[in-house]
Amino acid sequence: MGKEKDILGLTPEELGKGLEAHFSERDQPAYRTAQVREWIFDGLASGFGDMTNLPLKEREALAQSFSINEPEVASVAKSKDGTVKHLWRLGDGELVESVLIPTEDRLTLCISSQAGCGMGCTFCATGFGGLRRNLTAAEIVAQYRASQRWASEEGRGRIGNLVFMGMGEPLANRKALFPALTILNQGYGVGARRITVSTVGLVPGILELSKRPEQFRLALSLHAPSSELRRTLIPLEDRYPLPEVVSALKTFDEAGGKRITFEYTLISGVNDHEHLAPQLAELAFGLQAFVNLIPFNPIPYQDWEPSPTERVKLFARVMEERGVPVAVREPRGRDIDAACGQLRAGALSKEHPPEGTPLS
Ligand code: SAH
Ligand code: SF4
Repeated sequence: MGKEKDILGLTPEELGKGLEAHFSERDQPAYRTAQVREWIFDGLASGFGDMTNLPLKEREALAQSFSINEPEVASVAKSKDGTVKHLWRLGDGELVESVLIPTEDRLTLCISSQAGCGMGCTFCATGFGGLRRNLTAAEIVAQYRASQRWASEEGRGRIGNLVFMGMGEPLANRKALFPALTILNQGYGVGARRITVSTVGLVPGILELSKRPEQFRLALSLHAPSSELRRTLIPLEDRYPLPEVVSALKTFDEAGGKRITFEYTLISGVNDHEHLAPQLAELAFGLQAFVNLIPFNPIPYQDWEPSPTERVKLFARVMEERGVPVAVREPRGRDIDAACGQLRAGALSKEHPPEGTPLS
């Protein structure tokens, strides 16, 4: 990497301006800008050498001023159920993961926003390693491009949905997330309603997202319907207590009919007591939120187990009875550790937890 501008982190507008200036300085026709834009956003070009309808001299000149930095594939794991996990090695050697999840009618990509995560949720494998660093907008976008290229080569079609449910807390990295959302939406044409930002409840981030004119979707990883219980699972409760989070969600909701989803991971004997189901339903009803019940994925250093199926069904029934739309998520990609909460990018060894890591 040199001092060239990394194209993947530029919004279409910034890229357009940068290219216009570049080509006009070189006395090139204006349509060169459109050619390059097309190669980047539609052709998913991974280098200027690919841009075969540009003269060789122009390809070389572009490479002097701009760069296209793609992550290396460190590994690809394919699950029996069709889920595919990519482990990407970034320019400085950091590792992040993204997961392609095929369902009946579409392909969903789950991407990472940070290497590691600093939120320390007690049920999450990513959280145990702490935050290593924020990703750049280019590194977020690059996961999408490389995954789409891979999917096309494998005949898996187009990525229809994008969820920020990989490693990291997206709203803790708004400096990169916000331009990345613009680039994915305006540049690569992923509809805003098909992009979901999942957060553990960073209030300033929720409020900022609600100011965006696009209808990006928001998922709140709730996991507890009361502050008291939430505190034991999500340390962020001390900074942003549940009532504040709920009020930020109301603002988000009022800003323009964007449906909110609650993610609720059911952990046996921890947050699946019967009396919690009506509390969850009440919270969701008040915000007209959709509830996703997720079976807990056991992680190393924590002996919690998923709730029994009967209990999951009971929660689902209580939601339905109270008029709350609900879905029970199927665990996907478990055989390759690709499920939510299992993304650790190989940074931690199963046998040797890092020193000072809380185990419960
Ligand atoms: N930091 C963001 C996004 C990444 S986590 C967030 O927390 O929302 C993606 C999802 O995986 C979240 O809903 C998170 O709560 C869930 N998750 C984390 N660990 C899990 C586990 N062990 N089992 C099931 N889901 C888990
Ligand atoms: Fe971070 Fe989300 Fe895991 Fe919490 S659940 S530690 S916010 S990745």
